[in-house]
Amino acid sequence: LKAWSEIPLAPPDKILGISEAYVADANTNKINLGVGAYRDNTGKPIIFPSVKKAEQVLLELEKEKEYTGITGSKKFQNAVKNFVFNNSNKDPNGKQLIDSGRIVTAQTISGTGSLRVIGDFLNRFYTNKKILVPKPTWANHVAVFKDAGLTPEFYAYYETSKNDLDFENLKKSLTSQDDGSIVLLHACCHNPTGMDLTVEQWDEVLQIIQDKGFFPLIDMAYQGFASGNPYKDINLIRRINELVAQDKIKSYALCQSFAKNMGLYGERTGSISIITESADASKAIESQLKKLIRPIYSSPPIHGSKIVEIIFDEQYNLLESWLSDLDKVVGRLNTVRSKLYENLDKTNYNWDHLLKQRGMFVYTGLSSEQVIELREKYSVYATEDGRFSISGINDNNVKYLADAINAVVN
Ligand code: PMP
Repeated sequence: LKAWSEIPLAPPDKILGISEAYVADANTNKINLGVGAYRDNTGKPIIFPSVKKAEQVLLELEKEKEYTGITGSKKFQNAVKNFVFNNSNKDPNGKQLIDSGRIVTAQTISGTGSLRVIGDFLNRFYTNKKILVPKPTWANHVAVFKDAGLTPEFYAYYETSKNDLDFENLKKSLTSQDDGSIVLLHACCHNPTGMDLTVEQWDEVLQIIQDKGFFPLIDMAYQGFASGNPYKDINLIRRINELVAQDKIKSYALCQSFAKNMGLYGERTGSISIITESADASKAIESQLKKLIRPIYSSPPIHGSKIVEIIFDEQYNLLESWLSDLDKVVGRLNTVRSKLYENLDKTNYNWDHLLKQRGMFVYTGLSSEQVIELREKYSVYATEDGRFSISGINDNNVKYLADAINAVVN
């Protein structure tokens, strides 16, 4: 390279590019269905009232802004372990794993940071570099794992022509892969399709994972967004903990984020947990995680993690209000989902898949041409894969949106 001017222009991020185009649009009816962040019924972002209260506690009590540990504070790690693996005292297998020192948890820079840390860790220590990801998946999964030196490859997940999960091909394509590969599973609210596996289907996949000796890597960015209750959305974790207790699965990893379920997006608060074979293995793994993280960002930010600590600390009595804040958020998303469905014209087009999908998105099945037409004629902004972030929908625009969709499909 002789000059910086030789550096080629990188393509803009697809989702963030949509927001920019939206901002520049003068149409007062414009709707932004691009970015996966919550908006209330007036179209505005919110701070969860329970989070605001935790911040008030923090403002009163915080005496210093010292660095936290490389992998975060013990208090944060323990809160996450208890919340996710022990189901707040309801999962005996998870509790056993915690008590026996078999879970290593590190605070990370939100979900993306946890995916990158585990990607780097697996690249450094796991023999098989192939990571199987669902088709489709969150676009950043592929980018993160590639940059970490792993080799992402797709397994079948969704049949676009049927607007449904393609479970038979999912099983076939996993079975045909090399033994010992890493496999990425979305714990709930699969992004972008919103279509999750049933408990029975997870059991079949977990059987394939055992037969093939795959290393399961679970991404849980939307815990609580399927049912409104974070404790109900962790069937997969509970089931896999049972298999670990029976020694049928030895180890797995979980990437987790509080961006969506506490609305802590910009606070970058999440975690990586590795479930190991023994307390000794945990010690070594924890030391290696520290060695890996230290030269990248030294230690994670503290504001968001302290909010999490306070919400899970019984003495502040905020758990119930957080659960109810989250339930309201998910309730509104479900309401706009049904309102959109009601307003869509079903004479020539079947929209039933919308009602089966869960989480922040509807995966409409619209073609990229139709999405572009929505943008150009109606100022409706969404990614060209037909994924709509439904938090951009509200009572004021749902009819306008449905009419626009009806017009482009008919
Ligand atoms: N995984 C999935 C599937 C996601 O959709 C997201 C957020 N869009 C993340 C991980 C990471 O989010 P964050 O880094 O904001 O926690």
